Amino acid sequence: MLIIKDIYNLHIYLNAYKDKRYSIGYIPTMGALHEGHGSLIEKSHNDNQKTIVSIFVNEKQFNDAQDFEAYPRNIGDDYNFCENHKVDIIFQPSTEEIYSKKHKSIKNSYFQNILCDQYRPGHFDGVVTVLNQLFGIIESDKVYFGEKDFQQLRIVESLINDHFPNLKLVPVPTVRSNEGIALSSRNSKLSKKQMADFISFQKEVIKFISLLNKKIDLTEANKKAEEFIKAYEKFDYFEFRNTSNLSLEGSLADSRLFYAIYKGSVRLIDNLEL
Ligand code: AMP
Repeated sequence: MLIIKDIYNLHIYLNAYKDKRYSIGYIPTMGALHEGHGSLIEKSHNDNQKTIVSIFVNEKQFNDAQDFEAYPRNIGDDYNFCENHKVDIIFQPSTEEIYSKKHKSIKNSYFQNILCDQYRPGHFDGVVTVLNQLFGIIESDKVYFGEKDFQQLRIVESLINDHFPNLKLVPVPTVRSNEGIALSSRNSKLSKKQMADFISFQKEVIKFISLLNKKIDLTEANKKAEEFIKAYEKFDYFEFRNTSNLSLEGSLADSRLFYAIYKGSVRLIDNLEL
């Protein structure tokens, strides 16, 4: 496994792969890797001859400086994780490498003012800006994103359709713990008590969804969702939205439940299929 920190050397290896017509799968991450990331890597191995993982905690997508500082970082473990998952190249650039003087900042224009975009202003501008850089540097055949970050997945899908016609996006289902919570780098920030509370919250949510009549529309379902979450101490959103266009209209059967809640200062997001 190669660990490469600069674009110049990365291109030497990627060009050698491309000369041999190897197909390249790419997984962008912010590190603190877990089996959710692992499932994206495995999917890439199934589809491609070479797999590259980038590890870059992108300051531009943190609308809160403290959140950026507190984001879990564990580079030694990440190297081992990638080695165990037979990754070919880790690309671990510095901020200067990604954001050279000539980089282009772009504004996100997709799925705006809802869900995480409403509560983390500027977050998706940072996401599309870094992905625009990374996709341009790596020029892989395929790129892998988790359904765990569903709004991000939809935004990336639009970005790729509009600007990267040669890149194929592959969505990967959310990997969960036995108790049903989505694996996330941020889970490592939870205390034992917070984790136990989060697990019982998730069980309640799963029960709430299972008891709903699937024939009702989203307006009615969202009244029930509002009722359910009311007692809950801190959340940004907890609502059903249409899976394809993320709107609040249509039938419950075509939707997912999206939430962002807090345990202490840790913000946790998930989306659940019906
Ligand atoms: P992150 O390092 O959090 O930026 O995530 C990198 C990629 O891994 C994103 O495409 C995420 O959606 C994906 N991902 C994170 N957690 C999971 C999970 N539990 N299951 C599947 N994919 C995930």
